[in-house]
Formats: sequence, C-alpha cells, structure tokens
Amino acid sequence: MDSGEPVQVRVARDARWSCEGCGFCCHFHELGPIEPEVIADLTERDIGAHWPRAADGAWYTTRTGPDGQETAWLAKRDGACIFLREDKLCAVHALFGAAAKPGFCQAFPFVAIRDPKGVAFVTRSDCGSAPVTAATGPAVAEQAAAALSIPNSRMLRVFQPERVDVFADVGLGLDAWMDVETDLLRAIYGLDLEPEGLTSATRSLLAEAVGFEPPPPDPGRYRMAVFAVLKALRMVMDHVIATEQAPSPAEAAFGAEMHARIGHTLERLDQPLSPLADDARKYLNMQLRTVLLGKRFVGAGSVGAGIGLFLLNATVARYDIEADGPVTSAALATVHPRWSRFTHNRSMHAILNKARPALEDMWLHATEA
Ligand code: SF4
Repeated sequence: MDSGEPVQVRVARDARWSCEGCGFCCHFHELGPIEPEVIADLTERDIGAHWPRAADGAWYTTRTGPDGQETAWLAKRDGACIFLREDKLCAVHALFGAAAKPGFCQAFPFVAIRDPKGVAFVTRSDCGSAPVTAATGPAVAEQAAAALSIPNSRMLRVFQPERVDVFADVGLGLDAWMDVETDLLRAIYGLDLEPEGLTSATRSLLAEAVGFEPPPPDPGRYRMAVFAVLKALRMVMDHVIATEQAPSPAEAAFGAEMHARIGHTLERLDQPLSPLADDARKYLNMQLRTVLLGKRFVGAGSVGAGIGLFLLNATVARYDIEADGPVTSAALATVHPRWSRFTHNRSMHAILNKARPALEDMWLHATEA
C-alpha cells in the first residue's frame, strides 16, 4: 500500500475492533508466508537464546507451492504458533516489538480491498474478539492508516472483475455493482433486524437493481438449503478425517471439532432458533456490511451465495450455542469466529462453489420469523 497516490479508504460505518489476546489466530490460522527479512532479523537476534522453544527444533518450516516457489511458515507446537506464550501473548512482540513480527501477524484481522472507489478496509469475522469488541473497541477507521502502512502485510486484495455475479446467471458490470454496493450499505446500516430479516432486505434491493422478480420466500426451501450445505460440508470433513488429510495435528483437531459441530447443528435444525440480543444483532449487521464492502462473497461464487454463507455462519453459530435466552455477542464470540474460520478457509472455496445453488437458495428464501 505504498504507491504514493492518495486513495479513498472506506470502512463499514461504526465498525470497531480491538485485539483481546485470545490466541485464536495463533492456533487456527495459516502462519505464513513469512518475509525473508523477518527470518533474517530473528536469526540475527538469536531468537533461540531469548525464546528456548525456538531453539528446540526449527521455528519455521518451508513449503513449495504449485508454482515451484518455496515459502517459509511459522512452526506450530502443541497446536499453536511456536511463539505463543502461556499468557496467550506473542513472544516476538514482547521481546522485540510489533514490527519484528511477520507482516501478516501485525495486520491480522484487517483486510484491504482495492476496488474502483479506492480501498475498502474491513476486519475479518474469524478473529476471536470480533463479536465483543465490535461494541467496545476503538473505531476501525482510526486504525486504518497504521494498518495500511505495515509492510508485506498480505492484507491487500484487488477486486476488478469485469462482471460481478449477483446470483445464478444474473450479474452486473463492475461500475454498476459499485453503485449497488453503496446503496446496499446505506440501506442495511441501522436496520434492527435478525440476519434473516437483514438478508431479505438485501434481496429486495438487489432484485430491483438487476431487474429480477425473486420467488416468494419459502421457509421449507430455506431449511432444505441449510441442510444441503451442512451435509456437503460434513461429507467433505468425513473424507478429510478418514483419509487423514489435515496438514497438521492442530488442523486435524480443528476439523474434527467442526465435524462434530456440523453433526450437532444438523440434529437441531428442526428446532426454533434463539433470538439475538441487541449487541449480537448489531454485530451481525456490521458483519453483513463487511461481507459486501470487503467482497467476502467472492469465495462463495456470487453475492447471493456470499450472503447465504453469512446466514449459514450466523445460523449454525446460534444452533451451536444452545442459549436459554437471547444470544449475546459474548456467546457468539465462543463459536461464530470458529465457523467463520472454517468456512472462509481457502480450501473450502471449491466446496462452497459446488454448494453455491444451496447458498443462493438460503439467501432467496430467508425470512424473519
Ligand atoms: S484472534 Fe483476534 S483477539 Fe484473538 S489474538 Fe488474534 S487478533 Fe487478537
């Protein structure tokens, strides 16, 4: 992000975030690639002398990608980054300061998307503190400049498709989509609705924008679509577990956990969902705006499928929580980031693309109870 040209940075209105040091990212996220300068710097500082775990075996590993390029990744021990301390803080940060960490560690959970209107700057939903600090943390807008100046952060993506798939065979040119995005963000902001009601609002607006008459929402079809996506995810996880395909014991454990959560949710699909407390509704409103502004729908294959995926994560998290009363954002924090991490994993994109019709059906048939 260092072209020297002034760019307009847009954030979701009222977005807030801060790191609570929960260690979730250090356990469950991909820890690389690390910049060669970081490796050289930590080697020169004799990191093993300061942090004995780094002397006890390699503190980074290398992988060769499909393009033949070799990249380095932080090693994990006992399921977490080798530099994660018992108090869940980072040893490199504590010893040498934030700038000594790899760029992706410094930048997490921010993502920046260069689009025709400038740079959209958002927080990822798979940070453990995101649901809670969305109400209590400092404004994301105030954190953008510092985050965007982190070198080698890997946070920047480019969004420049010729056509944006809205759903099925319906799409819009990029400039037309950017205008629709602005209208959607304005329309959703401040709507005090459960996720199903929020997504209904996006359906009406998008249908109008692309000249499509949406079918009357059908709750039965909605449930069937949720069931179909979860069954597809469970089949994949059955296979991953049976063939021991997970790249590390930590990822195998996370996969087994999510497999159990999928089964648990499938058993409860016929039961009514607990309502959301005010703070949780606000958080999920902000998350839906983040899906749109941050183009978090791209991996799902269309805007409708991306909104369906937002609904899926919100729905399964609520089934998972088994609350007696309204689900708070603190309760959401125990499971929603895990579902987000699971479904936004790049290796899930192929499966989600296959499940795209069911995800779009979720979006087309969601109704507020
Ligand atoms: S998951 Fe979020 S809150 Fe937890 S340590 Fe990482 S950045 Fe901080």
